[in-house]
Amino acid sequence: MNSQVERRDVVIIGAGPSGSIAAALMKRRGWDVLVLEAQQFPRFVIGESLLTHCLDFIDEAGMLPAVRAAGFKHKNGAAFIRREEYGEVDFREQFTPGHESTYQVPRAAFDKLLADEAEKQGAEIRYLVRVVAFDNSQMPVRVTTENAQGERAVIEAKFVFDASGFARVLPKLLNLETPSNFPSRAAVFSHVIDHAPADAFDRDKVQISVHPRHKDVWYWIIPFADHRCSVGCAASQEFFANYSADNATRIKQLFAEEPFMAKTFENAVWDSPVRSQAGYAASVKSMWGPGFALLGNAAEFLDPVFSSGITIAMKSASLAAAVLDRQFRGESVDWNREFEAPLRKGVDVFRLYVYAWYDGRFQDIMFSSNRAPGIRRMICSILAGYAWDESNPFVADAERRLDTLAQLCRPAPSIGQVQ
Ligand code: FAD
Repeated sequence: MNSQVERRDVVIIGAGPSGSIAAALMKRRGWDVLVLEAQQFPRFVIGESLLTHCLDFIDEAGMLPAVRAAGFKHKNGAAFIRREEYGEVDFREQFTPGHESTYQVPRAAFDKLLADEAEKQGAEIRYLVRVVAFDNSQMPVRVTTENAQGERAVIEAKFVFDASGFARVLPKLLNLETPSNFPSRAAVFSHVIDHAPADAFDRDKVQISVHPRHKDVWYWIIPFADHRCSVGCAASQEFFANYSADNATRIKQLFAEEPFMAKTFENAVWDSPVRSQAGYAASVKSMWGPGFALLGNAAEFLDPVFSSGITIAMKSASLAAAVLDRQFRGESVDWNREFEAPLRKGVDVFRLYVYAWYDGRFQDIMFSSNRAPGIRRMICSILAGYAWDESNPFVADAERRLDTLAQLCRPAPSIGQVQ
């Protein structure tokens, strides 16, 4: 074997939330960690609303004091708006014991903070280095990298975590991708200076509003600490085809159609690029294989509506780091039973809620006054990210409970509909 080849315990592809949390968790257990990141940080990524469960993983990775000190916008729940109807969840009411508030974070700053914290704990991060090939036909596995000058190098690793987000490096290289069971949806989004009146909405909550004529078209407002907000609209790609192909024009056309968004942002300053992302729902045949495991979006991405992406990403990092540590210590581990199956449990709970959002069942529940306080708290816990808490009946028996509740909450048909 070539003695020039660099050898590491763990190589992590990508320094987003899943990569940085996994890096810190492995380093804290005493392993040598190298993170390879294609971009220079800070860099833009969409997805700024954290769930409270995220803070458990940030804490586990020893990063909570730094996140608390960063001055991010406090968040205590989510508000839902459909024409004159309003519903909200307040994380202080949640069923599962845990954090009762969290943050709304510009990702450029948040992801850089997590990466810097992982570095402070001793993980090495190389920016502007892209992983371009992977060979796991023998152990140790071999990762081929390319730097900004186009120079290639090979690194040997005992194990690789793919935390490359939507780039999905290993799923593509290893032919692991499989279609998501969600239709192809898209989003158009930007950051704005909102100039909204103080009472326009609750800045401590993410705001989700529904298009007045299309229940599967929705908007978000994620307020930041500095009078800026992340705003966007999500819909099917066919729906977006009816609007301008220019993102900046399209988002304004869409905002004009929803009275709450139109009014709230009538004086907004659109000073940032308007971007779009399409076909984001993604899945894989397997989340692990010889010498590797997939974390975060590289494994599965459902939908942005319940802000579950970063929570799932961090949960995957936490589960994978625990299994890999035991494997490195010579214990016999079962990646399917200890990593993929438990991860999928919570992902599948979120998946059910995403389905229920788009087919209208969740909206019926959220806008109904017919919800007992105990049930409110159980649903609140899931929206706070505690989708793995089997003591919550809405997790343990998710499908049946959700369905029954939706039937109870469904509005009676109007006279027009009965005729
Ligand atoms: P990422 O954060 O994407 O990080 C991946 C990193 O890998 C990047 O820095 C990238 O540069 C690097 N990389 C890629 N390819 C390579 C390579 N070949 N070599 C080396 N490095 C590489 N989630 C929420 O929790 N809350 C939200 O409000 C929310 N809103 C969303 C809105 C939209 C419209 C969308 C599409 C998603 C949203 N999400 C949200 C999802 C969330 O952004 C992601 O789930 C989250 O970023 C996943 O983190 P990650 O660590 O898997 O990947």
